[in-house]
Amino acid sequence: MLDIESIRNEYPILSREVCGRPLIYLDSAATSQTPRCVVERINEMYFTKKANVHRGVHQLSQEATEMQENTREKVRAFLNAAEKEEIIFTRGTTEAINLVASSYGERLCNGDEIILTVMEHHSNIVPWQLLQKSKRIRIKVVKINENGELNLDLYRNLFTENTRFVSLAHVSNVLGTVNPVKEMIAIAHSHGVPVLIDGAQSAPHLKIDVRDLDADFFVCSAHKMYGPTGVGVLYGKRRLLEAMPPYQGGGEMIGHVTFEKTTFAELPFKFEAGTPDFVGIAAFSEAIDYINRIGIDNIAEWEHHLLRRATDGLTQIPGMRIFGTAAEKSGVISFLVGNIHHYDMGMLLDKLGVAVRTGHHCAQPLMQHFGIEGTVRASFGVYNTEAEIDAFVAAVDRVAKMF
Ligand code: PMP
Repeated sequence: MLDIESIRNEYPILSREVCGRPLIYLDSAATSQTPRCVVERINEMYFTKKANVHRGVHQLSQEATEMQENTREKVRAFLNAAEKEEIIFTRGTTEAINLVASSYGERLCNGDEIILTVMEHHSNIVPWQLLQKSKRIRIKVVKINENGELNLDLYRNLFTENTRFVSLAHVSNVLGTVNPVKEMIAIAHSHGVPVLIDGAQSAPHLKIDVRDLDADFFVCSAHKMYGPTGVGVLYGKRRLLEAMPPYQGGGEMIGHVTFEKTTFAELPFKFEAGTPDFVGIAAFSEAIDYINRIGIDNIAEWEHHLLRRATDGLTQIPGMRIFGTAAEKSGVISFLVGNIHHYDMGMLLDKLGVAVRTGHHCAQPLMQHFGIEGTVRASFGVYNTEAEIDAFVAAVDRVAKMF
């Protein structure tokens, strides 16, 4: 059992009040809160260590560079990638997917097909649609069953000789479904098709092993992993990254520049144009240490416990409809009660101190699938308590009775 009280002490924000009541923060899927050690690292960087990376011979710059490259190694180990050159720092999941769609996408041709799923976040749909401006590629979509699980037979049948890429969420940010990505990657590989895994909702909650999964690309965001905003990761297999053209041009990513011709840097710098968020990267290093200290399996187990407790409580409420009841589920619960608009429920819960997400959660195609406009979504982090879950369930019940 984790000592949740001492974990909570590391998060000053969790002791604040909202609308005169103690905050119950149930929006970690949007962004997690940040422990003191991560924030202190940001302060330390600005107060005593700030210098641009890869540029100066002076000691500060060398220290900053070393720190960034140590973080790259830490991320490599966290994801169990083979080499640290396969780890590219980005602004977040969204930028990482745009990078792959844009750069890998250059090799796609008219008539090529890619496979997505109906539960994708907009950031794993729109970058692929942008490609359609210049190329007539076709997007095929895997549907779900009534529990919010992907239909694998349908997935298998979507492959044709024109399929060139698969991009899918590891964990749905709306349904919480943990997709069988290892199996899905193996199916794609049997057709010679590479796969990108959107790990925005899995990296904070599940043990990730990109080599065991055999993922070709894996992306995630630090701000959902107890880390800072503005930093994300693209993991890609070296063979694929080397064959891809740069995504953005600028400093850091070049070998040699003349007005006639420019050569590009080796991995990973080829994909890291401009000054990176090296302060954020240093803080991300601290966040990974933090997760490792608690243990990702312990985090997963605690969140699972909270999920079960919340699900048991909510299902007692008359008119409750939970979206996503997959056998394999992570700490996210989306719901509607009777005819109560998700927005009204969210506003009233806020008045009771409970911060939940309302709306389409950047997954409008999934909302269309269910024939709804939005849901209320509660999502959990390692710092949430049983008492908070009970207070949340009681608050939902109270709002439901008001209507
Ligand atoms: N994919 C999924 C599944 C997400 O939940 C999110 C964040 N809500 C994203 C992608 C986008 O992440 P970011 O905004 O950090 O780029």
